[in-house]
Amino acid sequence: MTLGEKIRFCPGCGSPSVQTPNDRAFSCRACDFEFFLNTAPTVAGLILDSRNPEQIMLIRRGRDPGKGKLAMPGGFVDPGESAEKALQREVLEELGLSIEIDRYLCSFPNNDLYLGTIYPTLDLFFVATTDRYSKPKMRLPEVVEIVWRALNSGVEEDLAFPSMQAAFKYLRAGIFPI
Ligand SMILES: [Zn+2]
Repeated sequence: MTLGEKIRFCPGCGSPSVQTPNDRAFSCRACDFEFFLNTAPTVAGLILDSRNPEQIMLIRRGRDPGKGKLAMPGGFVDPGESAEKALQREVLEELGLSIEIDRYLCSFPNNDLYLGTIYPTLDLFFVATTDRYSKPKMRLPEVVEIVWRALNSGVEEDLAFPSMQAAFKYLRAGIFPI
């Protein structure tokens, strides 16, 4: 179910006279409140070993969506935060690890299914480096393993989300899937 389908009453005045002409906005006829169901930006890092950039650091997800699959560390951007800061904060929170951001890579749209509701996201991917031997720690239950893989070891098939697969393919081959 999308967020637009989920909202039945106006959060401003409680009236059931809400209209959701599309999945991008709803408006209330009783109080003129209008709310835009904007895409949420997320960040993810293709984090390479600073001494051997043919190795990439991934996490194994401990929760759905994508439980048991590999993913790039990252998460949602907070209000008032830059994408770069969000990525550094997320990696620090998840793994206690400092990273150096090398460059912005690309973005792909995605849908985050959380507790039965679909939230559209725009996933922003960055290339970053870290020292493989600085011993990251798993700090949150959503991360069950830290995995280093060679870039040419078929990583793409083990990634949890199509947007991550696309970003990885773009990094490896410069192919930009539409
Ligand atoms: Zn209202």
